[in-house]
Amino acid sequence: MSGAATLLRDVFGFDAFRPGQEDIVSAVADGQNVLAIMPTGGGKSLCFQLPALMREGVTVVISPLIALMRDQVRALRAAGVEAGALTSGNTEEETEDVWRALDDGRLKLLYIAPERLAAGSSLNMLRRIGVSMIAVDEAHCVSQWGHDFRPDYLRIGELRRALNVPLAAFTATADAETQAEIVQKLFDGTPPATFLHGFDRPNIHLAFAAKDGPRRQIMDFAAARKGQSGIVYCGTRARTETLAQALGQAGHSSCAYHGGMDADARRHVEHRFNTEDGLIVVATVAFGMGVDKPDIRWVAHADLPKSIEAYYQEIGRSGRDGAPAETLTLFGPDDIRLRRSQIDEGLAPPERRAADHTRLNALLGLAEALKCRRVQLLGYFGEDAAPCGNCDLCDSPPATFDGTEAVRKALSAILRTGEYFGAGHLIDVLTGKVTDKVSARGHDALPTFGVGRDIARPMWQGIFRQMMGHDLIRPDPERHGALRMTDPAVPILKGEAQITLRQDTLTSKARRPAVKA
Ligand code: ADP
Ligand code: ZN
Repeated sequence: MSGAATLLRDVFGFDAFRPGQEDIVSAVADGQNVLAIMPTGGGKSLCFQLPALMREGVTVVISPLIALMRDQVRALRAAGVEAGALTSGNTEEETEDVWRALDDGRLKLLYIAPERLAAGSSLNMLRRIGVSMIAVDEAHCVSQWGHDFRPDYLRIGELRRALNVPLAAFTATADAETQAEIVQKLFDGTPPATFLHGFDRPNIHLAFAAKDGPRRQIMDFAAARKGQSGIVYCGTRARTETLAQALGQAGHSSCAYHGGMDADARRHVEHRFNTEDGLIVVATVAFGMGVDKPDIRWVAHADLPKSIEAYYQEIGRSGRDGAPAETLTLFGPDDIRLRRSQIDEGLAPPERRAADHTRLNALLGLAEALKCRRVQLLGYFGEDAAPCGNCDLCDSPPATFDGTEAVRKALSAILRTGEYFGAGHLIDVLTGKVTDKVSARGHDALPTFGVGRDIARPMWQGIFRQMMGHDLIRPDPERHGALRMTDPAVPILKGEAQITLRQDTLTSKARRPAVKA
């Protein structure tokens, strides 16, 4: 794992870079002058915070909003990074702390309000402390024609010349005039390395499917693309081996790849993949760094990825040559339960765990989407888009139904049985099936018993999965996956909110309960 990737995980708690971040981070860490244009919410701050940790000395961050600076400093400190701010909002004590940290050479990031640059003493101070680079947030504030013009931003160019260090400028404003003005005023007209990526990869077809015999689903997907190079990502090492074998038996050229294999064996697979045509590599997420192949025609996920960022990164390995590429991501209640428990059982502090659940929800929202996946995916990264015509939902819009009544029945079954059971038993209760467990617990006497008879069992399984996907219910880590109701479900239970669900895509008869208690 590269230094940047390790810091990304250990300090910031993220498992993958967002689109564009990795290239920007490496250019900034490398000491290049950089202009990066990214949509709001795209993750700009990481692009200077992470390189700041990779470089010797202090990174000076200039940002127009005191509240924003203070938030960032607080978050960095919470992650164990030495950061401080010099702003008019400081208490005397805070300012002293910052000075002490600077004098000790401990500080990695120093946030400065632009108006401080007007004071000559600031420049002397900055000369003294060993500044290694300057990062400018909201760089469009130098533009005299924009709405956010900040006269003090005009001093930044001076500062860069005086300190003679690299400068990285960030903005969400993409128009050419503003860019030219930034280059003129911050870089004296010498064009920096410029990053302006749309995040969209329009040649990649997006598709998700609920697990319904996942091995068969992957085999069918691969069979329809025989002879093409592809990657199947799996959640466990063991699964990579068995699936690679199954593909081999079906006449594909395939091999497994995971972190448990020794370095030589892994390099061998990477080499084969990069040089051979039509090889399928069945891998864990360990497969990626060493892959440099423009014509990967498809990527399939046999298990749900960790986050929407990881999803984007993994499908993004396909179709780098711009020719059509296809993807399929499988997901099911077991994946949701596994990902939730990985978060709950991790060592991260509570705020980070909450953020991880939110990010997982974003991926589940994408999985259970009712309209264009690309609109939803790009929207998550801050980019607007029109329906793409190149995803499964644009190809064939899903049939939907008003799921409010069904969800209320399910929630009521959960509450009346004490939030103590998994979906299998709850569906027995809802459909009025008298099992030993149902009669032993007296659940056949509940008012909810049999109220869901009108809905077939596989459909109920789809409803429970979608309820998990919408975070209306969560498996209780302390009760072996018994389902609990969450706060967002309350308005639906009370009849104050409605929910639209998809008619499920499951085609086969239930092979086993969707969720086991
Ligand atoms: P911007 O300044 O571009 O508007 P931020 O830097 O504030 O955006 O980032 C927006 C959000 O994205 C933050 O909540 C941040 O924690 C999150 N984020 C940034 N990079 C990643 C990543 N690689 N993986 C997951 N979340 C990320
Ligand atoms: Zn679409």
